[in-house]
Amino acid sequence: MLTRMLKAQAFKQAQQLFAQGKVQEATELLEHLQEEYVTLCDENKALRSQLSEVAEVLDMSEHMEFDGQKYWINEENERKGPFCQICYDRDGLLIRLQERSRHFLCHGCGSHYPRADSANGDATPEAQVQKRVVSLFK
Ligand SMILES: [Zn+2]
Repeated sequence: MLTRMLKAQAFKQAQQLFAQGKVQEATELLEHLQEEYVTLCDENKALRSQLSEVAEVLDMSEHMEFDGQKYWINEENERKGPFCQICYDRDGLLIRLQERSRHFLCHGCGSHYPRADSANGDATPEAQVQKRVVSLFK
């Protein structure tokens, strides 16, 4: 509000300078105002885009589902995902998990999520070693 009042005064001042024949000073003042105007427009544009991003995130969070390990996004006709729980909870990032033969892999943090359809996956030597390694760090 204060800025807007100052701007109004500055434009008036420029008019007065022109009226007084101080063209150089008036031109400089107008150039300065023009620069500020461009800066404000850029700021405004950035804020608008941030605002729409926030609105999108809020809208999206209403459609998110946690299956106990990973996140999914339920849209009208399809289910998107899965997405990494660690990356989302820690950084607010939706990182799509890469499907492997027995697990889903996150390229963001390197987490592994066992696939629900490979219930016997734990029986493989690879999975057993992995399980033991994980238990060492608990
Ligand atoms: Zn991750």
